[in-house]
Amino acid sequence: MKRPEIFSLNDYLEHDNNDQVEIIDNIPLQDQLPTTTFKNVGGMEDLKDKVRLQIILPFKNQEIYKKYKKKAGGGVLLYGPPGCGKTLLARAVAGEADVSFANLSIPEILSKWMGESERRVHQFFEIARRKAPSLVFIDEIDALGAKRSEVSSSMATLVNVLLTEIDGATSNNENVFILGATNMPWRVDSAFRRPGRFGHVVFVPPPDVEARQAILKIHLDDLPITDIDLKKIAKLTDRFSGADIEALVGRVAESAMLEEMKTGKSQIITTEHLVKYVKTMLPTTIEWLEQATNYASFSNRSGLYDDLADYLNSI
Ligand code: ATP
Repeated sequence: MKRPEIFSLNDYLEHDNNDQVEIIDNIPLQDQLPTTTFKNVGGMEDLKDKVRLQIILPFKNQEIYKKYKKKAGGGVLLYGPPGCGKTLLARAVAGEADVSFANLSIPEILSKWMGESERRVHQFFEIARRKAPSLVFIDEIDALGAKRSEVSSSMATLVNVLLTEIDGATSNNENVFILGATNMPWRVDSAFRRPGRFGHVVFVPPPDVEARQAILKIHLDDLPITDIDLKKIAKLTDRFSGADIEALVGRVAESAMLEEMKTGKSQIITTEHLVKYVKTMLPTTIEWLEQATNYASFSNRSGLYDDLADYLNSI
């Protein structure tokens, strides 16, 4: 089996004076391997089960796929409020499956030269196919895969190229899985959801109380703490995203560190410290949830946002 690695397009490209790029062959494998696993992702148990079934098991059972003359590959589109672990989950999937992780970064792709962005998208997928088994992650896919009726004709051409590259029927994407992520699924061209492209669309909600407890534990790990009442903090952080919880812990740690430098006395982080800082923060998911309510109510004829609607009804 090939050695997995984390790579981006720029690792494999040489830019000339006109910003044209060529794939460099034979570059040494990178040292950085996908080390994030489900251990680093607090909560999200249902989601972990879903991706285990749809992505990790097919990666791990390639022989069975061959036996039944099936091609492993395909795509899952994750959507939800910012900071709730879509990127983290994607990295963890690559780590769990022990496959290469390729991040399609939009600034690396976009070029002012005609036809160049399309060429880069194609080259990126070529590298991912050479590195198969690999997991391609496309964050903010709404930016590269916007509805073609709403963008300029040059952008629509790029969307068409992306559609072709991710399509298992037109491109040989055997053992290349594609995970897309977006905060704005309503902006993504519906052609991405056709069979062979993103066959599954999955809502990644803000963490529930158990998940918040698990996320707190992960981010407090190795800090100087004493008997933190995780349950209490988890209850106080309703609608906080994982990133909000990380920021909360970061603020408390910073204040303890400054205090230690000022006084010369070593500090211990307590439940009270966390309670004090929670009160100064607002969850960043609220704005997104308000916006999403309209789409779940008025643009859900196809049932696309059923998971989102169920979540909104439950809160
Ligand atoms: P965006 O939509 O803005 O790209 P995202 O949903 O991809 O956001 P991430 O980038 O995965 O969110 O999360 C940001 C950070 O928040 C992570 O790097 C991690 O530190 C923390 N975080 C989010 N969710 C979790 C989680 N479930 N467990 C542990 N940490 C988390």
